[in-house]
Amino acid sequence: MAGHGFLPHFPVLLPVPDLRPWQAGNLLPGVWSFDSGRPGPHVALSCLVHGNEFAGALLLARWLSQGLRPRRGRLTFIFANLAAFARFNPADPTLSRFVDEDLNRVWCDRVLDGPRDSLELRRARALRPLIATVDVLLDLHSMLWPSDPLIITGAMARARDLGARLGVPPLVVADQGHGTGRRLIDHATFTAPEGHRRAILVEGGQHWEPETLATLEACATALLRETGLIEAPPPAAPVPRPAPSVAEVTRTVIAGTHGFSFVRPFRGGTVIRARNTLLALDGEAEIRTPHDDCLLVMPSPRTMRGHTAVRLARFLRPEDLAPP
Ligand SMILES: [Zn+2]
Repeated sequence: MAGHGFLPHFPVLLPVPDLRPWQAGNLLPGVWSFDSGRPGPHVALSCLVHGNEFAGALLLARWLSQGLRPRRGRLTFIFANLAAFARFNPADPTLSRFVDEDLNRVWCDRVLDGPRDSLELRRARALRPLIATVDVLLDLHSMLWPSDPLIITGAMARARDLGARLGVPPLVVADQGHGTGRRLIDHATFTAPEGHRRAILVEGGQHWEPETLATLEACATALLRETGLIEAPPPAAPVPRPAPSVAEVTRTVIAGTHGFSFVRPFRGGTVIRARNTLLALDGEAEIRTPHDDCLLVMPSPRTMRGHTAVRLARFLRPEDLAPP
C-alpha cells in the first residue's frame, strides 16, 4: 500500500498523452468535428469526462493524428475535461479526476440551468448545444480497481440494445444511473422516451493498463461500423463469438457506515451463483446477494460512507432483448 495510505499503488503502464495539439479544437476547445457531407448520423466519441482516465484520450488523439474521417454522417471527438487532465501527476494519479466536481454527475437540465457555478458546470454548459445534436454517443471511461470491462447503458432499452450489438466488451449492464447526479449518457438528449438518440458508456478496464486501450479501441471501432461511419470489414469466415451477456442492475449498495468492508476482495465481473451469499459487512448490517447468478458491477474495495460500494445485477434472457 502506498499513496495516501488509503489506496494501493496502481502503476501507470500507458504513456501519458501529449494533448497540446488537440487542445484548441475546430468547433469548441477540445472538440473536433468532421462532417462527411453525406447523410448519416452524428456520432460522438468522448473521453476524459474523468480527467485521469486517459486511455480513451490516447485513442482519440491517435485517430485524430491519423486523420480518421467518417465516410458518411458526422464524427465528433470530445476531450471533455482537459483542465482536470492537465493536473495529472503519475506520482498521485487519482487526484486529477475532476477540478471542482464530477463532470459525470451534472447532466441534468435543472442543474445546468441553475445558479450554481464550477469549472465542470461551465464545461457542461459549453458542450450542451453540441450534445443535443448527437445521435449516438460513446463515452470512453476506465476503472481504478481491476475489473472485467463492460458497457453501461443507463435505463433506455434502445441504448441497451445498441450496447449488446457491439459485442465488445461482451458484458453489457443496464442501470438507473447514480443518485448523486446525472451522467452524460443520462442527459435528456438521450433519455427522452420518444427520442431516438442513444448514449452508452464503456469501462475499458484499469485506467492505465495497455489492454484497456485495446478494449476501448475495439469498442469504438465496433460503434463506428455499427453506425456506418466507417466501412465494415468484408465478411470473413464466421468466427463463432459468444453472444454478449446483458444484465440489469437490481440493487445499488451504498456504504451506510465508515466500516463498510467486503468479506473478500471481489473483482468486478464476478458472478455469485447462490442467493443470500454474504458479500460485505456495513457496520452491523450484512450485505447479501438478493438473487442467484448475481453479477458484481465495479465493487469498490475502499468505500467512503454515502458512496456506492457495488452494484448488483441480474442477467437478462436473450428473448428480453430486441432482435438485431
Ligand atoms: Zn470514469
